[in-house]
Amino acid sequence: MIQLIMKKIILVTNDDGIHSPGIGALMRAMEAIGDAYMVAPDRERSAVSHALTLHRPLKVEKLGANVWSVNGTPTDCVALGIEKLLPGKPDLIVSGINRGGNLGDDITYSGTVSAAIEGTIFGISSLAFSLVIAEPPGARPDYGAAGHMALRVARFALENGLPYDTLLNVNIPNAPEEEIKGVRFTRQSKRVYHGAIHETKSPWGEVHYWIGGGRPFWERGDDTDMDAVMDGYVSITPIHLDFTNAGAIDWLRKKWNGDGFPIG
Ligand code: MN
Repeated sequence: MIQLIMKKIILVTNDDGIHSPGIGALMRAMEAIGDAYMVAPDRERSAVSHALTLHRPLKVEKLGANVWSVNGTPTDCVALGIEKLLPGKPDLIVSGINRGGNLGDDITYSGTVSAAIEGTIFGISSLAFSLVIAEPPGARPDYGAAGHMALRVARFALENGLPYDTLLNVNIPNAPEEEIKGVRFTRQSKRVYHGAIHETKSPWGEVHYWIGGGRPFWERGDDTDMDAVMDGYVSITPIHLDFTNAGAIDWLRKKWNGDGFPIG
């Protein structure tokens, strides 16, 4: 049997910045299965969500044969990587490994997940990886097991593709590989932070507000992303880009009383 060996093109990005250890671990993992190209923000851009830089030019700096840094967002990096920097259309886009989990409603803020959203919009299989660092916040991140898991999930996505309009949000416990119990396929949970806005004062006495920290409250449930990682499993959630609540269309039809506007 003749087997055609085509090396896969893999775009690696993140939102923690190009110098973060997480993207280094992800790049090394991807180099084992394809031609990996890193296009990543030149500094930390966590929580920028799906922001695109429109009102200033972007500067790209080539730092190595397959490595570019961009003074923009994760979404900018994916768009530039696909359209300008890589030698061809990527077969796979991977984002992370984020320092900290992207669980529940966190994903709506996440630059890590948004990079995978951008890839999905381009019709490319895309994966977001995050390392869940449990309290205390000072716990040392270890990307070794997460790198191995990223390799497994990436192989799966290259072999099987992904369902239409769907990315995989992968959260990995910060633990040695032998302590991770396995994989759970999960749904996105609800997670809300309380007390995340802190009042501070500038040296000149002005009041400022600093968003960060806070106490997370989350919905529990055996099938959720949060429970999986709390129980020591890798959580893989398939995320659909279509936010439409299909049932709510009927709800609107029934509830809308009409005020002269016909409903089509
Ligand atoms: Mn981040």
